Amino acid sequence: MTEPDVLVIGAGAAGIAAARAVQAAGRSVLVLEARDRVGGRAVTDHRLGLPFDLGAAWLHNAEDNPLVPLAHELGLALADSDALRHERTLVGDRPASPAELAAYDSAWNAFQAAVLARAAAGGPDCSVAAAVPQGGPWDATVAAWQGDIIASAPLDRLSLADFAATALDGRNMMVEAGIGTLFARLGEGLPIRLSAVVESLDWGGAWAVARGAFGSIRARAVIATLPSSLIAAEAIRFDPPLPAAVLQAAQDLPLGQVAKVGFRGVEALGLPAFCSIDRQVAPGKALVAMSARPFGRDLLACHVGGDAAAALEAEGDAALEAFMRAEVARRFGQQAARTLAAKPIVTNWQRDPWSRGVYSYARPGRSAARGVLAQPLAGGRLCLAGEACHARLAGTVGGAWQSGLVAAETALAALR
Ligand SMILES: Cc1cc2nc3c(=O)[nH]c(=O)nc-3n(C[C@H](O)[C@H](O)[C@H](O)COP(=O)(O)OP(=O)(O)OC[C@H]3O[C@@H](n4cnc5c(N)ncnc54)[C@H](O)[C@@H]3O)c2cc1C
Repeated sequence: MTEPDVLVIGAGAAGIAAARAVQAAGRSVLVLEARDRVGGRAVTDHRLGLPFDLGAAWLHNAEDNPLVPLAHELGLALADSDALRHERTLVGDRPASPAELAAYDSAWNAFQAAVLARAAAGGPDCSVAAAVPQGGPWDATVAAWQGDIIASAPLDRLSLADFAATALDGRNMMVEAGIGTLFARLGEGLPIRLSAVVESLDWGGAWAVARGAFGSIRARAVIATLPSSLIAAEAIRFDPPLPAAVLQAAQDLPLGQVAKVGFRGVEALGLPAFCSIDRQVAPGKALVAMSARPFGRDLLACHVGGDAAAALEAEGDAALEAFMRAEVARRFGQQAARTLAAKPIVTNWQRDPWSRGVYSYARPGRSAARGVLAQPLAGGRLCLAGEACHARLAGTVGGAWQSGLVAAETALAALR
């Protein structure tokens, strides 16, 4: 097909959602995807002999996440990881005492209350760091969770208004077969051309023309779902260029870093299924969040985020693996750490040319950027979509999915 009604660039969550909606409306659609697989930042790896999600792993806000009913329809089993979770927190190499755990809980609550109070007060946006408690024994640990691990960047780089608007809520579900598997299934039957890198897009005339090594495809409307990092870097040459305000919005929505290492051979750690293990950290120190034995499997996923993730990824896979093995040894002892299997899976989203990071955050003072990025162009014949465009569910597969649906509706209306 070289002349679809709607051309979708990217077969991640937003692109798959958009393509399904266009097809359901009886219009022709073609998806061009740079990678040799669908799913984008949602991909399930099987090299360990079990499903391991390299990117997205939880369906957040499960109560109103459109992907939850879709997974059910496809017969994919889900688990409520909050209900099943066992939490272990360490101070140094020993379990936290009940009094320490109570203080940790209070620090989480104080953080949430400070964010909500500052957001409700209105006034100029500031960084999250400027609004939350600091100096308490657990404040740095909460900050590392909320910033580096959950938002993928340190709190001083995050817009408080955006952080409050996009705070995750509700239950978190895991897909037994992996979230990447869910997207592979959702993409089945769609006209997707893989390994098709769009290099340029002319969108000035009645027809938009995408060009690359695949040749040229013209379409009456285009939905481009590139991560904001790639829009900001002008990885696709738009002709005419994207409006300056749109480019600025993409620059105001950089992607942070989270690195994961997945190990097998975790029996000796003696952990229950769905176990989450963290450890108190001092200010400025990297927090490693561990998630063990999902669905009872022999798997330990170790996460580090923010600048520490970026630095370790830059050093390379071996450095990241050694860092995580040392952390396992600190928490469970040298002997247990030695039983971890060789050849873990190590992610590096920073190096991935089709994402250059994990998910978007808004810089302080730039919380309006998501709305600017999502604004239709050329009367709806060019729509940008993807997680960065969703004002409420940014950074999630659910937000990306919904943003793809909105873009499809806009493009279909423009065709009419
Ligand atoms: C480590 C990590 C952990 C995460 N954890 C969670 C989680 O637990 N829960 C959650 O909801 N979300 C999570 N996310 C975020 C979630 O994965 C993303 O928000 C979502 O997958 C983004 O979907 P998208 O369609 O917007 O973008 P993408 O998935 O990035 O899709 C864009 C597609 O465009 C393609 N593309 C780029 N350039 C071109 C080009 N020039 N030509 C053609 N195609 C191109 C890319 O290859 C890609 O497939 C996580 C992400 C990462 C990386």
